[in-house]
Amino acid sequence: MSEIKRVYYFGGKSADGDGTMKNLLGGKGANLAEMCLLGLPVPAGLTITTETCMAYYANDCQLPSDLMDQVWKGMKKIEEAMGMKYGDPNAPLLLSCRSGARASMPGMMDTVLNIGLCSATIPGLIQKTNNPRFVYDSYRRLMMMYADVVMEKAEGLEPTEGKGIRKVLDEILDEFKHEKGYKSDTELTADELQMLADSFKKTIKKVLGKEFPDDAHEQLVGSIKAVFKSWNGKKAVSYRRIENIPDDWGTAVNVQAMVFGNMGDHSATGVAFTRNPATGENVFYGEWLINAQGEDVVAGIRTPNPLNDDTKNEQNKHLKSMQEFMPEIYKELCDIRNVLEKSFRDMLDIEFTIQEDKLYMLQCRVGKRTGTAALNMAMEMLDEGLIDDKTAVMRVDPSQLDELLHPIIDPNSEKKFTPVVKGLPAGPGAAVGKVVFSSEAAVAWKKRDKHAHIILLRKETNPEDIDGMEVSSGILTSLGGMTSHAALVARGWGKCCIVGAGALEVDEVKKVAKIKGSNVVIKEGDVVSLNGTKGHVYMEALDLMDATENPLFQHFMAIVDKYRTMGVRANADTPKDARQAVEFGAEGIGLFRTEHMFYAKGAEEPLFHLRKMILSKNEEERRKALDDLFPFVKRDMKATLEVMDGMPLTFRLLDPPLHEFVPQEKAKQEELAKALGIKWEDVVKRGEELHETNPMMGHRGVRLGITYPEISEMQIRAMFEATAELMAEGKKPIPEIMVPVTCDVSELDVTKKIVDRVYQEVCTEMKIDKIDYLYGTMIEIPRACLLANKMAESAEFFSFGTNDLTQMTFGFSRDDASAFIHDYTSKKLIPADPFQTIDQSGVGELMEMAVVRGRSARPKLKVGICGEQGGDPASVAFCFKNGLNYVSCSPYRVPIARLAAAQAAIKFGK
Ligand code: PEP
Ligand code: MG
Repeated sequence: MSEIKRVYYFGGKSADGDGTMKNLLGGKGANLAEMCLLGLPVPAGLTITTETCMAYYANDCQLPSDLMDQVWKGMKKIEEAMGMKYGDPNAPLLLSCRSGARASMPGMMDTVLNIGLCSATIPGLIQKTNNPRFVYDSYRRLMMMYADVVMEKAEGLEPTEGKGIRKVLDEILDEFKHEKGYKSDTELTADELQMLADSFKKTIKKVLGKEFPDDAHEQLVGSIKAVFKSWNGKKAVSYRRIENIPDDWGTAVNVQAMVFGNMGDHSATGVAFTRNPATGENVFYGEWLINAQGEDVVAGIRTPNPLNDDTKNEQNKHLKSMQEFMPEIYKELCDIRNVLEKSFRDMLDIEFTIQEDKLYMLQCRVGKRTGTAALNMAMEMLDEGLIDDKTAVMRVDPSQLDELLHPIIDPNSEKKFTPVVKGLPAGPGAAVGKVVFSSEAAVAWKKRDKHAHIILLRKETNPEDIDGMEVSSGILTSLGGMTSHAALVARGWGKCCIVGAGALEVDEVKKVAKIKGSNVVIKEGDVVSLNGTKGHVYMEALDLMDATENPLFQHFMAIVDKYRTMGVRANADTPKDARQAVEFGAEGIGLFRTEHMFYAKGAEEPLFHLRKMILSKNEEERRKALDDLFPFVKRDMKATLEVMDGMPLTFRLLDPPLHEFVPQEKAKQEELAKALGIKWEDVVKRGEELHETNPMMGHRGVRLGITYPEISEMQIRAMFEATAELMAEGKKPIPEIMVPVTCDVSELDVTKKIVDRVYQEVCTEMKIDKIDYLYGTMIEIPRACLLANKMAESAEFFSFGTNDLTQMTFGFSRDDASAFIHDYTSKKLIPADPFQTIDQSGVGELMEMAVVRGRSARPKLKVGICGEQGGDPASVAFCFKNGLNYVSCSPYRVPIARLAAAQAAIKFGK
């Protein structure tokens, strides 16, 4: 049997893999190979495949038996390329061991650096580098990482008293620095670092009960296993849930020759984006640190220097840029930037190290960006000829568009206030909310009040904070740069974020933050406003406004529509919402909930007539109340039809159970009693009679019209008369009547008789020959899906009401499911909340059946969706694949649905 290739070499200008092999080599491994093939300076290394990770798990967390042989074979090539040997006492090669999944999971898995340092190799490295300080600094870093990642986390050891080994060692280091009066690690001498290393060794043995391995081979095997293990670490699993990354992808492991940015003032390390990831501007954008290792930049321990003039800002402008300090290497890096952008045709996020004036590329990957940057970059790259139309459309994640449609701080409101503190603008847009100081508090607040707006304020964030970051509207940190954890994660999610607000003195335990140089104190629960585009923080609640004026947005959406084949409508029930929907590009209204007109501002009068109608004792009373109600209903229908001139508007007949409209306050009940000429007690009694045990499955939807046909009749007449009047005014109204909550064609037939009669009456009264309209039904009950061929004999269109269809298919109450849905998703019983994204295997199967059966009876049957899921990108793609004619969603989600539909057409269209 031929051996499975588990290890892919890269180095020099050659590589076993290439940039297309992300599934097998992970993003990092594939791109390291690609960079070698592009002739860029990359330290040699090996990528262990993602398949090996899954084999490791299938094998009860044992490395496959053939793996290490392949690793040692590959190591020979690394040694040749780097001119050093692993474990060699004279010129020892040191290694890094990093994770790298298919999709980037920043900081969620573990890394070990400086592997291979042990008593056999330390003297040789000191001799070779003539730099004992550097060697012992690297050694103590290895111990800290190894003890934490390999010996504690990967072994599943629970830290005693919640304090992990990393923290214990950090405290030893801090205490030592404190005793010596040192401010920074760089003040520690070689002898002191050597002493610290000895003390670390003893502490590791004492705390973890095992020796730190003094053997290069053992260190490497341990590190590889630990990186595999970190795929199932708590942070990684939690991140995968949020990002919908499948558990069975596994991570690759990259074992790579170490190069050192901490060898003195001619060494450095940095991270950069080939364009500005917050705005999309075409400028090289990055941060670097002299005499440091990569983790120092991301950890936010020191404020990083700006890469160049373009990256200077208030916080770092006094620090030397690489452009000024190392102009030649900066030029080489700029050339690499160009090579990479030309080859990848996208904005990249790169990591580099300079070891004694020699530049090495350690990583490149497609960079995370804000929605604004994604859109701006796609349009600019299109302009530059780097990408084509279709690629531009695919470059913006539909859910990121949301961010562009989300509010920014109203500049007029901002003028009136002064920021109390400034930081770096890491995630644009605005957020106004109440401050909390821990991720747990953020999650708990949100659980208590799902509408709460929370600002998470921390010194810095780390991967343990992601749950709290997710539920927060904005994130504010006192430390860290544009590439700190908070900045990277917030940008990826399009969340408003300010980092490095250095004047904040945050005490997370006492839950207060003082602002240096002022007497302002921020306490838990205080309201603050963040302007993430500028990095300004205010102690007041500022006004917010929309951010759609970007002209590139309009242009982008025009290209999107070129590729879109499926229609996009909006759910709207007022002229104002309809106008907003049209502005966002809606091509019609897919759901006008007629009951909503009674909840609106200024709707007291029609609501009063509706209540009279509901509490009427007999048909006569009811008809009288309906007559009073009629002009209001007609007026509202007409106003919205007028806005939607030339576009279809689907009016749905009254849906909710009537008791929802019965007044609860005594004063309103008394007023109604007076109008009906009955006693207050009778109003209460009639209200009680309408009470239902299970109103979701009670007297609602079409059932109301079956019992009280005069209600449907009034609505239908209002619609036809409004339409006829607009036609007389030279307009082109296109109404559609939709019947809710149906389960049998007979319900449709009964209602259609009323429609036909009223239609004739209105045509005669208004002296017109014909009104164009459609008659159709919501599909919200599984039975309607099963009998769709019958339903389609009467209905000219279907619209899936996936809120109810999901409720009825799962048997999960749409009003109560939030109490337990989280348990289902977090325990992986279901992949996602079916009320947000269509449950494709269950509800979706019913929909598919309904489309096929419906069209078997009526081939031209128009089919749409108007449940909440109609604006969810994955659900939009599902609807496209199943041949729906349109999706309908809330006005703000219309652009998202347009983009998702265009992307589906590009991906799945014929
Ligand atoms: C639905 O059930 O999906 C729907 C759109 O109707 P409503 O939410 O008004 O019940
Ligand atoms: Mg419904």
